[in-house]
Amino acid sequence: MPNGDSVDLLVIGGGVNGAGIAREAAGRGLKVLLAEQGDLAQGTSSASTKLIHGGLRYLEYYEFRLVREALKEREVLLANAPHIIWPLRFVLPHADHLRPAWMIRLGLFLYDHIGGRERLPASRSVDLRSDSVGAPLLPQFRKGFCYSDCWVEDSRLVVVNAMDAAERGAQILTRMRVVSARAAGGGWQAVLQDRSGARRTVSARGLVNAAGPWVAGVADAVIGRPLDAPIRLVKGSHIVVPKLFEGEQAYILQNEDRRIVFAIPYERRFTLIGTTDLNYLGDPASVAITPGEVDYLCSVIGRYFRKAVTPADVIWTYSGVRPLYDDKRESASAVTRDYVLRLDAQEGAPLLAVYGGKITTYRKLAEHALEKLAPHYPALGRAWTAEAPLPGGDMPDRDFDRFFAGLLSRRPWLPERLARRWARAYGTRVEAMIGGADGINGLGRHYGDDLYQCEIDYLTSREWARSSTDILWRRSKLGLHLAPATIQALKDALGETGPLGQEQGTGEFPAARLGGERL
Ligand SMILES: Cc1cc2nc3c(=O)[nH]c(=O)nc-3n(C[C@H](O)[C@H](O)[C@H](O)COP(=O)(O)OP(=O)(O)OC[C@H]3O[C@@H](n4cnc5c(N)ncnc54)[C@H](O)[C@@H]3O)c2cc1C
Repeated sequence: MPNGDSVDLLVIGGGVNGAGIAREAAGRGLKVLLAEQGDLAQGTSSASTKLIHGGLRYLEYYEFRLVREALKEREVLLANAPHIIWPLRFVLPHADHLRPAWMIRLGLFLYDHIGGRERLPASRSVDLRSDSVGAPLLPQFRKGFCYSDCWVEDSRLVVVNAMDAAERGAQILTRMRVVSARAAGGGWQAVLQDRSGARRTVSARGLVNAAGPWVAGVADAVIGRPLDAPIRLVKGSHIVVPKLFEGEQAYILQNEDRRIVFAIPYERRFTLIGTTDLNYLGDPASVAITPGEVDYLCSVIGRYFRKAVTPADVIWTYSGVRPLYDDKRESASAVTRDYVLRLDAQEGAPLLAVYGGKITTYRKLAEHALEKLAPHYPALGRAWTAEAPLPGGDMPDRDFDRFFAGLLSRRPWLPERLARRWARAYGTRVEAMIGGADGINGLGRHYGDDLYQCEIDYLTSREWARSSTDILWRRSKLGLHLAPATIQALKDALGETGPLGQEQGTGEFPAARLGGERL
């Protein structure tokens, strides 16, 4: 990027909202620059429960607008990214003293009907004594309900949005912090700083503050205009344990404090358990799970499952901070998950601040963001993302299974598990990654396990990956699977020094702790 560059829109933050806004704007004809201080999805957008969901529990808080929009988005996103988003069936064991059956039935009826469900199956009751989904549960749970939502690879969703934005002309700069932005002459003058301390200036017609949990800090310290509405930071943590149950279904568990906790099949060999909801006042960059949160999550599992989970079973944890619009609710779990967009056009220089939101609603949020900015961009094109596949998602009939079968038949020499991992992660882009290789030796250097040079090259050249942490924990979750020697070989190749598998702020553990089967 040349110093003194001039763009239509400068987006601060490469989380799902910043990347979604950059994509929407670039596709509508704007010259866009997105600056992310770390790696894409380094903040909250890689620390979610990874559900594209309406949010069944938000019905209790009468969040009908949010639930309806989110339910509709499930189908839109599933169609546009069938590689990284897939349907997930949830089992809700009935606990009458927490919520009566009529209330759950009413909630599920609304859930099935207010969002225009088309591809996902409807909810139903289930006899936990006879259905296999009841097998891992304690025998007192005899009745339950099943309903559908979707899973998403959250950090990959961010990357494919950034890729699409870039393919439509946006500049995506990672490890590039916006250190100041000031209104000048009906636009913005911003200063960006890279990791070496080098600075460059950018002038922009409009500015978007999509800094997630840093949104207030950016408003104060970078832009010099404090937010005009309060933000509430709410921390949420997850634990990952060895597989707790068989089957592809997830469980939604009601807790005595009226919160809910999910137990979800994760990365073939594990179960993901979360989340917590705690008010948070610290630095979002140093968020980490506490022993109290681990105990809380283990105890919820103990109330439902035959198999106990203890802190010693925990293999990996991660924590994130929700940047919520503060509606002054007392409890952290009751604060609205809906998003709010505030436009400030003082001195004729548009500034849009993003509060709250869900991974699920990022695309609608981006559309609404551009609607707000539209008066400042007379030549703006039309909203376009509802039917546009994300990179890798352009499969015939949006049918992942058929695409995968085709990949195996075109490349019969690819080991099936590797082919599946790549098809899920990269979708149709897997062909560009494999290129002209016609056998396993054509994939380049073998680092160990199923890590090959072509994947590293693809991630570094097309997906802005720069470090082993980017590759192992955000572009993939290979950090959970690879042998220490493979990780070390990768780090050596990238010229990294430092302790194996540990990088500040990731909450990651070396794969050595995992034992058992390797990829
Ligand atoms: C525990 C938990 C579970 C969740 N589960 C779900 C779920 O299952 N489904 C769902 O739909 N939603 C879920 N969410 C909500 C969802 O994750 C967030 O709403 C969403 O990720 C927020 O994205 P964002 O882009 O606003 O923020 P972020 O992802 O945090 O992105 C903001 C970015 O701005 C960057 N930045 C900050 N300051 C600067 C600067 N000065 N210059 C450049 N860059 C800067 C940061 O580095 C960061 O990457 C969950 C959230 C949490 C915490």
